[in-house]
Amino acid sequence: MSTTKTPEVQCHACLRPLDRASHAEATPEADDVSLCLYCGALSQFNADLTLRPCVLASLHPSEQAEVRKTWERLGFKWRNRFT
Ligand SMILES: [Zn+2]
Repeated sequence: MSTTKTPEVQCHACLRPLDRASHAEATPEADDVSLCLYCGALSQFNADLTLRPCVLASLHPSEQAEVRKTWERLGFKWRNRFT
């Protein structure tokens, strides 16, 4: 697991502060997808690693599948708000 310190931003959905990104192997890059650890809200990284809101339908189908799988795994009940 790789964790990267990122500029602190507020989750656009639950407003909690987010300042880290974790992934099994990768470090975040611009346009990578991010899920809020607290509420499951979907975002994408900007080049400076701040986050912008995004919607599932805007992602590539393989990314959509990965997001759905992650939501399932983590049991986010609010996921329908973001699809
Ligand atoms: Zn959130």
